[in-house]
Amino acid sequence: MSALRQVRGWLSAKRRFQFVLTLVMVSALTAACGALLMLPNSVLPTLRAVVPGQDASQATDPQVPLVKRSMDAYGKVVAEPVPTGSGRTGIVLGHPGQRADLDVLASELAASTAAVSALWGQDWNRAPVVVVASSPSEFAALTRATGDVPAEVAASTVADPYRPGTQLTGQRVVFGPDAGRRLGADGLRSVLRHELTHMASRAVTVDGSPMWMLEGFAEYSAHRGMRHPITQIAPTLTARARAGDLPDDLPADAMFEPSSGKASLAYEQGWSACAFIADRYGDQALVDLYRQLASGPKDRAAVAAVLRDSLGATYTDLVGEWRAWLTSRTTEGA
Ligand SMILES: [Zn+2]
Repeated sequence: MSALRQVRGWLSAKRRFQFVLTLVMVSALTAACGALLMLPNSVLPTLRAVVPGQDASQATDPQVPLVKRSMDAYGKVVAEPVPTGSGRTGIVLGHPGQRADLDVLASELAASTAAVSALWGQDWNRAPVVVVASSPSEFAALTRATGDVPAEVAASTVADPYRPGTQLTGQRVVFGPDAGRRLGADGLRSVLRHELTHMASRAVTVDGSPMWMLEGFAEYSAHRGMRHPITQIAPTLTARARAGDLPDDLPADAMFEPSSGKASLAYEQGWSACAFIADRYGDQALVDLYRQLASGPKDRAAVAAVLRDSLGATYTDLVGEWRAWLTSRTTEGA
């Protein structure tokens, strides 16, 4: 036991030393924003701070000082701690130019954290770090993006590289500089809940899992209980359904790529598939299904097997029922 503790202590000290080096790299790199975008992923610094054994509920997320210092290169940083319940405190960070967005996000953080917990459960870091970037280059730096970030991306959730069974670190939601202007206050709230849902479910989510489940679930969580009309949540899908043009299948992963030109429709279809499943089978069944489907890449046969085991439905029947649900929902009051 003591040997293990020693090793951990040594690792911790070594990591702390690395953070200092990382920080210097961040400062140097962010001064040359243009160059930062061109760097391959391996060169980009990771804002990492792991303090083994520290209880996240008792302390500010260790990434916060590092995030703050990397933001210093973009101007004065304002930080607003937000109690989110159960003694936990999240934080909203940004610059004075984004004050309006920061105020909306700070006022919504506790309610959004509670809403995500009500669906997903309490088993996640309920002290979120939320950052608003002041420019595309700062957004790229804070999300460690490489290449140009598509303009459609309003926000992104990032975390340090993660191995199942270990503790997730460095999780933060980053909003782009135009998010508030493009989305409005109500849209900011929905996107916050969407991203917090990704944060909550990250520990059981393997990259490459079916996108309709990963994004549809986050969208379902974003709008759950908000009484948003379907015409607002899924305008394209609704217009098409009313014209008799229903989806033949669950949206394929490729549809979610911004370059597909169909990403909005894919998100709307993903939302509606999850909203239908929750409506028909209940929220808990949807959460259980997420856990099953998010375990890694799956072809159609693998998805069908999970649907059969989890919901007792065949793939074909489920798609058929989803289409019928879409027809009834999109024609209600139309
Ligand atoms: Zn998402």
